[in-house]
Amino acid sequence: MQSTNRTCRGCSEEFAVSEKQMERLLASAAFAPELRVDVEAYEARLQACKACPKFQGGTTCMLCGCLVPVIAHLKSKNCPYPGGGRWAVQA
Ligand code: SF4
Repeated sequence: MQSTNRTCRGCSEEFAVSEKQMERLLASAAFAPELRVDVEAYEARLQACKACPKFQGGTTCMLCGCLVPVIAHLKSKNCPYPGGGRWAVQA
């Protein structure tokens, strides 16, 4: 009998992104301070994501596949939620 416990390969523990990997990303030039929203806007974005039905595994937006704790820093990013997004501060 075939297993019905199918999970997305990218969602398994084996492929989870570690804190260290996220720190490495955030240290790159793509996340230079001038490219980031301020701390309040970042925290507000995270709170919106935590309350969102499309937020999975504590890190991932299921609509865009982005690592939310990383991309929420960027001024250039928008929430893809239908109807204009759930972030108060959009690009
Ligand atoms: S749809 Fe928007 S609020 Fe929801 S997880 Fe994605 S980025 Fe966050």
